[in-house]
Amino acid sequence: MKLFIVNSGSSSIKYQVIESGSETVLAAGLVERIGEVCGRLKNTVHPGTKDELEMVVEQPIADHQSGMELVIATLTDKTNGIIGHVSEIGAIGHRVVHGGEDFSGSMRIDESVIKALERNIPLAPLHNPANLDGIRVAMEIFPQTPQVAVFDTAFHQTMPPRAFLYAIPYELYQTDRVRRYGFHGTSHRFVAGECARLLDKPLTECNLITVHLGNGCSMTAIENGRSVDTSLGMTPLEGLVMGTRSGDVDPALHLFLKQNKGMELEAIDALLNKESGLKGLCGMNDMRDIHKAAAEGNARAKLAVEVQTYRTRKYLGAFMAVLGRVDGIVFTAGIGENDPIVRAESLKGLEAFGVRLDPERNWLRSREARCISGPDSMVRIFVIPTNEELAIAREMAQVLGD
Ligand code: ADP
Repeated sequence: MKLFIVNSGSSSIKYQVIESGSETVLAAGLVERIGEVCGRLKNTVHPGTKDELEMVVEQPIADHQSGMELVIATLTDKTNGIIGHVSEIGAIGHRVVHGGEDFSGSMRIDESVIKALERNIPLAPLHNPANLDGIRVAMEIFPQTPQVAVFDTAFHQTMPPRAFLYAIPYELYQTDRVRRYGFHGTSHRFVAGECARLLDKPLTECNLITVHLGNGCSMTAIENGRSVDTSLGMTPLEGLVMGTRSGDVDPALHLFLKQNKGMELEAIDALLNKESGLKGLCGMNDMRDIHKAAAEGNARAKLAVEVQTYRTRKYLGAFMAVLGRVDGIVFTAGIGENDPIVRAESLKGLEAFGVRLDPERNWLRSREARCISGPDSMVRIFVIPTNEELAIAREMAQVLGD
């Protein structure tokens, strides 16, 4: 069966078509700049194989409906399409950012799911409306096809109140559901499953710390296969130092910036989300550029890596204390999978806690999931490539009963 995986953003649609049995990616693409003067679609068929073929279309794309229609036209194209007719798509999976407290797992989409998503818009005012747009358009174009919502927050719904509550008046939780939700759940869950396989143990017996370091960064403490704490909060801003997001700051910073800089709350929010993190510290947010600059003597670039890896180490220590026994630490996403310097710096000084990296394994370049700890490490350390689309495809198969 062919599965269509959709990740709809405010001005973009990212997608893949995956063959469910073999888990082969038949096509992958991105529609960008929806609603702008000129939109763009990039579609790659049979990516990563000898038959790989890329095509780009540039034309105005007024809205998500037009964007989705362009994707369908491309996928069913007579010469280079990978399907003859839309009816060949057996199911559609949507990545949804915020499921609030309504969803602790993936759900087949019906009216009640859509209502719950609408109810959760205040928790993710930028993301959920865009996800809903994608769902509505797909339901119109594919009225007969089962659709599944896979939530970034669902995996973390197992956190106990002591981990998800903020120490603010409890009424704010009761009335407005102000609490930690956590994100990147699909990725944390996927790499945890892969790690359990490598450890040759059932996931329900594994205690893991999964470290997702991409543009967005987060860490999750997993006890017996369940998320018990995570670094991202009510929104995807808390915790680790990210590409352009600050992670933890003193909440009193808002008042300081208002009183001393005359900044409005919206401007402060934009500063913390878009102008902070690695970019705020050194002007760059791509880790490859930062390492290059640091090697050329750029002190701020060096400092940015130091601040980020120190914060990661601090959270690792905290989550080791949360779990007590840790079977594995897993690094994943763009930086986690590819950056031996960041991995080594983040783990520096944890030897006394039984965490010992094997320098040679750490520096080995590979796309495979692998162990990078030394033989004397009590805690095994892994690099495991995340694959959110494949994770969504597997979730869909589970929800729809294979
Ligand atoms: P997103 O959160 O947008 O999915 P990714 O997981 O793709 O992000 O990660 C993007 C980050 O990964 C960028 O900071 C990029 O610099 C970093 N990255 C990608 N490849 C490498 C590499 N070879 N070495 C270091 N960092 C890398």
